[in-house]
Amino acid sequence: MSTLSGKVALVTGGTRGIGLATVRALAEAGATVVLTGRDESAAKEAAESVDGQVSGLALDVTEPKAVASLVRGVAKEHGQLDIAVANAGIMEGGLLGMIRAEDVDRTLATNVAGTLHTVQAAARAMMRKKTGSIVVLASVVGEYGSAGQTVYAASKAAVANIAKSAAKELGRSGIRVNAVAPGVIETALTESLTDEVRTSNTERTPLGRLGRPEEVAAAIRFLAGDDASFITGQVLGIDGGLVL
Ligand code: NDP
Repeated sequence: MSTLSGKVALVTGGTRGIGLATVRALAEAGATVVLTGRDESAAKEAAESVDGQVSGLALDVTEPKAVASLVRGVAKEHGQLDIAVANAGIMEGGLLGMIRAEDVDRTLATNVAGTLHTVQAAARAMMRKKTGSIVVLASVVGEYGSAGQTVYAASKAAVANIAKSAAKELGRSGIRVNAVAPGVIETALTESLTDEVRTSNTERTPLGRLGRPEEVAAAIRFLAGDDASFITGQVLGIDGGLVL
């Protein structure tokens, strides 16, 4: 595993779940990590729960000016930004006939626009050194669709495309952009899934179980570091074989 010592990383939505596991993995590999969450005290508490150089700041990724200013501030304070993980996301299910317009807006504002704001701000900060690695959180449902999750699945398809398009645009600036596409991972986000959905996913998964946040974090750490130096524009499935 390549060391991340001397590198500065930002993880949005780092207060719990996959984000917090990613903060742990990056800090364990030696990176200085700034995590964010909407609530300042929750962000600080999460940062304090991790060993290493970790701090927590408040950020709502749906606010472009706040994202730009936070990323500029992190790069200024630490002298650079090497890694950005656009992890913040929400999942609001609902059959097509039941989806409310405000749920559509909130999901797209958080998952799509929030990821775009983060990638844009991170790329600006990385341009100066002409190097950097950005990882965004797609999902298996973004590629294969999911009944009852049309808005969420559409938002994650967009996120995967953000990785591909940004990779094409930013490659010549030395910035890599990749996505991970997790299957069902045991976090607060998936707590609301019915037993039927969980059982069906487990049965369809060749590895015979749901995933753990640490398993997604390990893949993100790989993509963030120099071991992945010739990998960009990829969408890496972390799903126990669910989509096979
Ligand atoms: P959690 O619900 O456990 O965590 C979500 C994180 O996002 C929290 O830290 C939350 O912080 C933050 N967040 C939500 N909205 C905003 C916002 N507007 N601005 C800033 N931060 C926000 O989810 P997971 O860890 O499960 O998911 C993380 C990512 O992985 C998401 O993008 C999700 O779509 C994706 N994913 C998850 C899968 C799973 O099975 N769990 C599968 C595929 C993809 P706070 O509430 O403190 O503000």
